[in-house]
Amino acid sequence: MQLYPRLHAQFPALFLQPSFDFARHTTIGCGGMAEVAAFPSSVEESAAVISYLAREHIPTCYLGAGANVLPADGTFSGVVVLFRRLDALYAEGTDLFAGAGVTGGRLLAFACRNGIGGFSPFSGIPMSVGGGVTMNAGIKDLHFSDVVQRVLCCDRGKIFVLDRQDCAFGEKASIFQRGIAVLGVQLRGRYAKQADIDRESCHYRSLRVNFPKGRSMGCVFVNPEGIPAGKLIEACGLKGKRIGGAVVSLQHANFICNEGGSARDVALLIDYIKQTVKRQTGIALREEIRRIP
Ligand SMILES: Cc1cc2nc3c(=O)[nH]c(=O)nc-3n(C[C@H](O)[C@H](O)[C@H](O)COP(=O)(O)OP(=O)(O)OC[C@H]3O[C@@H](n4cnc5c(N)ncnc54)[C@H](O)[C@@H]3O)c2cc1C
Repeated sequence: MQLYPRLHAQFPALFLQPSFDFARHTTIGCGGMAEVAAFPSSVEESAAVISYLAREHIPTCYLGAGANVLPADGTFSGVVVLFRRLDALYAEGTDLFAGAGVTGGRLLAFACRNGIGGFSPFSGIPMSVGGGVTMNAGIKDLHFSDVVQRVLCCDRGKIFVLDRQDCAFGEKASIFQRGIAVLGVQLRGRYAKQADIDRESCHYRSLRVNFPKGRSMGCVFVNPEGIPAGKLIEACGLKGKRIGGAVVSLQHANFICNEGGSARDVALLIDYIKQTVKRQTGIALREEIRRIP
């Protein structure tokens, strides 16, 4: 039996979308289709769906705002689970409680309205809270690992809470990259004046004005010890290198822009960059982006 009717029969109230187009739901704008996408609207429904998919051995992947992923071309014969409907957001003192589907922009605007500072370096990072925690997103001044207190998560249908020290946060890494779903998070800020938060946010947004404007996944590679990956790629003469519709940005060599290419073009360009950098410098670049499915 096909996945859509199977899931619909099991979860009549669950919002499902057949033929989910990855290109329309990712910032890189390429990739194929998934047979079906599921949008659970509560923690309990998320756990029930995740449990069912695991029990039935149905291939599954999670997607947030799609800002750091390269989806493969072709058809994914499985289910993409998106937590956009887990969008609760409230404050207690200087702590924020956010569902995985809350966007970065909404989180920051809410914090500012409530006089809670400490998150401004996240300004301008395209993300959902779930994706931000999973990727330990941030810039050198602040990462999620600095502000996360606890994470509400789900593994094969079991709901539990992890304290920050149990999240295995690292450089663009966390325990959630091992297939544990983030459902919500508690973040700790500090009291601040709205005007100060606004000023800081403006400052951090201004640092991004020269970022490439095209379709991309942000930085493709983690910075190796001591040198930004972009500088290394540039020094290897790869700025502007193109494979099909994928091109190394002229503005920032750690960005690959998609100008109407396929996921295969992007993947080939990533391999080419890795091989060239390794050959010329001996350094093995590690991918920051996540491949899905
Ligand atoms: C223009 C641009 C600028 C960027 N600048 C920065 C920057 O300054 N700093 C930075 O760190 N990043 C940056 N990024 C990358 C990206 O914004 C971050 O990695 C962000 O955290 C991705 O969040 P997302 O919701 O889009 O996650 P996705 O891209 O949708 O997913 C990322 C990974 O997390 C998994 N995932 C998503 N949601 C969940 C969940 N609820 N539970 C479990 N797993 C989940 C996915 O399966 C995937 O493996 C940039 C990207 C772009 C396009």
